[in-house]
Amino acid sequence: MANSTQHFEISKLKEYLYVIKENISLVHPIYTNDPLNMYLLLGEHSALLLDTGCGLSPIKPVVEDLIADRELIVLNSHTHWDHILGNNEFGEVFVHEEEAHIVSQSYDVSYFQDSPNKKVIQIYANQNFLITPAPVIKTFKDQDEFDLGGLKVKIIHCPGHSPGSVCLLTSKNELFTSDVAYYGDLFLPNRVEIPQVLNSLNKLINICKKENIKKLYPSHRKTPCEIGLLIDLRNAINNIENRWDTKKSFDFFQSWQIGEITEKFRFFVAKY
Ligand SMILES: [Zn+2]
Repeated sequence: MANSTQHFEISKLKEYLYVIKENISLVHPIYTNDPLNMYLLLGEHSALLLDTGCGLSPIKPVVEDLIADRELIVLNSHTHWDHILGNNEFGEVFVHEEEAHIVSQSYDVSYFQDSPNKKVIQIYANQNFLITPAPVIKTFKDQDEFDLGGLKVKIIHCPGHSPGSVCLLTSKNELFTSDVAYYGDLFLPNRVEIPQVLNSLNKLINICKKENIKKLYPSHRKTPCEIGLLIDLRNAINNIENRWDTKKSFDFFQSWQIGEITEKFRFFVAKY
């Protein structure tokens, strides 16, 4: 796990865009959304890293190799463990104001103690299952913009998956959909909050039409994806009510499972 270049898979998607992939099933095989996609955007004077991964292997040296002498800005798309556990390698990290309190303190990963992947879990055990935060947490809100030099990145607040989930829209018409939209196992808030998820999806669909977005860059599994992902996902979520009687309890996630792993989407709807 010490060798970062083996741990992460790096691909250049465009002259100014890299994806850094990490397999989160290494932490626990119950997670099927491999890989996690972290993105690195390069402007003329600054670079932006979206998410810091599972904290299993240093990501900072990998990023520094790619950004040359640019200033680095680090963002969390939201504060679930797979997106934030590398935060403490960086001096400061930006996050949506609704979730700043979560990454301002040590992050408890003790629920992984029983993982069958003992060797990997030893890395967390060595930190007593409490992963230290970045020294400084800064916040952003909807519509805030980061200017990287010749490339601007705008924050789109898309609550649902979590209260402070955000997507990113660039001035070159890329849309990064974070954990709001990807093909795979989707984690949703409880049943009564599902309309909020649909609102966020509608917001993204409208942006795609207005800004003539061609490709989506999700934070898990296949990337890039076509715009149809958003439509497929909206249809599938709209159908959850019709399938509610088929739900199964999935205790590890304290969720109701709707759908099967063989489908485009399998949903885990929070019980509480
Ligand atoms: Zn995730």
